[in-house]
Amino acid sequence: MNETVQMRTWAEVSLDNLAHNYHTLRAMLPQGCRFLGLVKANAYGHGAGAVGRKLQALGADMLAVACLDEAAELRRVGVTLPILCLGQTPPELAHLLLECGVTQTVSDLETGKALSAAAAAAGKQLRIHVKLDTGMTRLGFLWTEDRALQERALDQIARLCALPGLEVEGFFTHFADADSNEEYTMRQLTRFLDARQALADRGITFEICHCAASSAVLNYPCTYLDMIRPGIALYGYYPAPELAGLDGPGLLPVLTLKSRVAAVREIPAGTSVSYGRTATLERDSRLAVLPIGYGDGFSRQFSNRMEVLLHGQRCPVVGRVCMDMCMVDVTDLPQVHAGDVAVIYGQEGLLDQAAQLAGTIPYELLCNVNPRVPRVYLENGR
Ligand SMILES: *Cc1c(COP(=O)(O)O)cnc(C)c1O
Repeated sequence: MNETVQMRTWAEVSLDNLAHNYHTLRAMLPQGCRFLGLVKANAYGHGAGAVGRKLQALGADMLAVACLDEAAELRRVGVTLPILCLGQTPPELAHLLLECGVTQTVSDLETGKALSAAAAAAGKQLRIHVKLDTGMTRLGFLWTEDRALQERALDQIARLCALPGLEVEGFFTHFADADSNEEYTMRQLTRFLDARQALADRGITFEICHCAASSAVLNYPCTYLDMIRPGIALYGYYPAPELAGLDGPGLLPVLTLKSRVAAVREIPAGTSVSYGRTATLERDSRLAVLPIGYGDGFSRQFSNRMEVLLHGQRCPVVGRVCMDMCMVDVTDLPQVHAGDVAVIYGQEGLLDQAAQLAGTIPYELLCNVNPRVPRVYLENGR
């Protein structure tokens, strides 16, 4: 009955918390605004299949992935929602986009021409969203205040939209600094709206214009336009700590990473611990050995720095984190025994703390939870 009994380390994914976050974000939208859920990178480590199906059941309008393989995986598990592929797809694989019914982002005219030719040759229509680079400097038709550059972008987008075999549905951009710089974000928004207007003046309009990822969703309602594109907020984390609490009911972490104590050992004072002997016990100690290491995504940077929760108490990691194990000090917690479950992330701000320690963001640590770690899905509390 309880399959987690056998597991060394696992990630509990609460589809109930996902639903809570979905409804919380949905409630912020005006009537008619669509909702695209980001499920790239295995749904930020949560498992794309289960998350994609849940978002579909909840009523999301669209999903987005980074690459064709991720879209194909969603189709394999029965997701029928429109899927937007954000990254480049080699035009040679256009037939797979058509087969999987994937909407492709187009960021330059050359790629657009090749996709158009492939779709037309197959006698089909490939649905696309046109991407504008308003200041992220990643992919997209480049758009600044420079008139000549604007003319070139307009000309190229107009030519793209006139190509056969392409059904142009959307137009979007991506913010570079929406968690901390209002002025830059508003400049990007203005550029995007200017481009949209200039295209409309040429008779080119789009059914769905969108630009808001989580930061903008939490910070700037004026960016919602026709659709929002949240990722991290859906999974219960804030793109920046300052944004926590802006959203009324609050977001709930969806993933809880857990590990079962393999052994508790009594070790005398003066003994060194783990590789490199970076820690030496100052007192007679009890160490719990946890079967989680950097091979599971628990970074070696947490050596001697991170804490885990056992019986609700914080226990420090002692010595280097190994590939498959690490040790934590439970000297002050006599009630800890082999078989007890430690919480690694997902409660009490542990993930934010870990991200700060590792000099990164919660996104990266969630993505790092390794495929070796089974995902256990909880729904309706079970
Ligand atoms: C990843 C991504 C998002 C989602 O970003 P979050 O900060 O996780 O909300 C939205 N749009 C694009 C283009 C992305 O690449």
